[in-house]
Amino acid sequence: MSATTTTKPLHEAYSLRAPREYRNYIDGEWVRSTTGKTFENRNPANEDDLVGTFQNSNAQDVSAAVDAADRAFAKWRLTPAPKRAEFLYHVGEILRRDKEKIAREMTREMGKVLEETKGDVQECIDMAFLMAGEGRRLFGVTTPSELPNKFNMAVRMPLGVAGMITPWNFPIAIPGWKSMAALICGNTVVIKPASFTPLSVVMLAEAFEEARLPKGVFNVVTGSGGAVGNPLIENPKVRVISFTGSTDVGRDISIACAPNFKHLHLEMGGKNVIMVMNDANVDLAVDGALWGAFGTAGQRCTASSRLVVQRGVYQEFVDKLAARAKKLRVGFGLDAKIDMGPNISKGQIDTVRKYVKIGTDEGAKLVCGGNELKDGAYAKGHFHEPTVFADAKPGMRISQEEIFGPVTTVIPCDSLEEAISIGNGVKYGLSSSIYTNDVRNAFTAMRDMYTGLFYVNAPTIGAEVHLPFGGTKETGNGHREAGVAGIDVFSEWKSVYIDYSGSLQRAQIDTETV
Ligand code: NAP
Repeated sequence: MSATTTTKPLHEAYSLRAPREYRNYIDGEWVRSTTGKTFENRNPANEDDLVGTFQNSNAQDVSAAVDAADRAFAKWRLTPAPKRAEFLYHVGEILRRDKEKIAREMTREMGKVLEETKGDVQECIDMAFLMAGEGRRLFGVTTPSELPNKFNMAVRMPLGVAGMITPWNFPIAIPGWKSMAALICGNTVVIKPASFTPLSVVMLAEAFEEARLPKGVFNVVTGSGGAVGNPLIENPKVRVISFTGSTDVGRDISIACAPNFKHLHLEMGGKNVIMVMNDANVDLAVDGALWGAFGTAGQRCTASSRLVVQRGVYQEFVDKLAARAKKLRVGFGLDAKIDMGPNISKGQIDTVRKYVKIGTDEGAKLVCGGNELKDGAYAKGHFHEPTVFADAKPGMRISQEEIFGPVTTVIPCDSLEEAISIGNGVKYGLSSSIYTNDVRNAFTAMRDMYTGLFYVNAPTIGAEVHLPFGGTKETGNGHREAGVAGIDVFSEWKSVYIDYSGSLQRAQIDTETV
């Protein structure tokens, strides 16, 4: 790694924004928090590099944003959906124009390599266009009535103010997924970004501002989960909360939303599995495992953190994976030679180190990595070697718990049935995959894996925006985002009956006389 050893300030060396104070975006204005306090956001590859300072907001700021969104809702909900769509098309075009610039700031803010942050922005662009297209669909249902001269239909209605709480690992894609779907349905938005990545959402707000989205329709309040997230959840004017983050926080939010029956959409943790069968193309499986396990330094909800491999190809797979993982180049993600960036924080590195110790103590075999990188150019960042445990058992903690770092665990198995049983044997249910050349294996696993996403001959990552995204068990609460399913989160059905018979017709009763 060499890129962060430049003598110039990083923002000058890499043509990034100079550090400055960023503000909340409320009612179409950039405003300071009433607390008068800010917090710092620093580059996880180099803590000397200050990205900017952001508003350390509180309940009063949340209340101002929700009030603005509530006022804006009165008009926005009556704006024809194809007209709402035009704002989203415009935002999509702005993001496409600025994709590289935005992605570079995101790499600096959260660490993943530029190619991946460009993909993150692209997801937001794709969702803007997908949901803009929905502006001329938002299909409801028409259906015959059981009575004559009566017309039945069901239409989608917006909910009102949508509150969003988002994580740092997809800092613009996830806010984009949620907000584009909410806006096209006619809701207004108040979003609290992760404190590690507020700039990404500020840049999204800048795009909405440039697209001249009406004031108050999209609002951003930065600050901590407790001080900003909680008041957002508790505000009675917020009709739906969409949260992506850890299962523990999601559970607390679920409890907080229950007393008022607030609509709630949760996307939470994962412990995803790639199954590799004896008949698989092993090199292809190794390619997939590397990308799935070490993309975003393993900090993806869909990371391939378990690799269940049939014994006939087990040793070959482990040897090839370890050899390839050792060659991955770790460093600052804006350096084109780098394969894997830093972890988000010192706390995340501590978690990774803790699990490396747990795995070693449990008796799994460390075949690659296992160490924090602290020397030389790594000294000011949060880096860890790509790490592979082999010969693990399904019940070990490293096989069960989400590590959220560059660590993957290989578990041997004897059959497809055993692979599926191990694959399903965790509390999460986000993503799973199988490498096989036998269509029977592929379809059996597709049927029997209890996960929201399933891949054949591809790793556990790679979702596209026009399909539903989400998971089962402790990954989700039954909802999905993206695709048309995303619209379900942000709309409510209204069933409409229009009787033009001119007489009283009683459903279920007068049907016998028809
Ligand atoms: P996190 O700690 O749960 O934080 C997520 C968001 O919740 C952040 O904005 C955070 O704010 C906020 N928050 C924290 N405590 C809160 C509270 N008590 N009340 C309200 N809001 C609160 O998760 P993370 O570390 O950012 O992200 C990693 C987790 O997200 C992993 O478990 C990963 O699997 C999951 N994830 C899931 C998906 C999916 O689609 N299933 C996608 C991406 C990530 P602060 O930043 O201010 O703390």
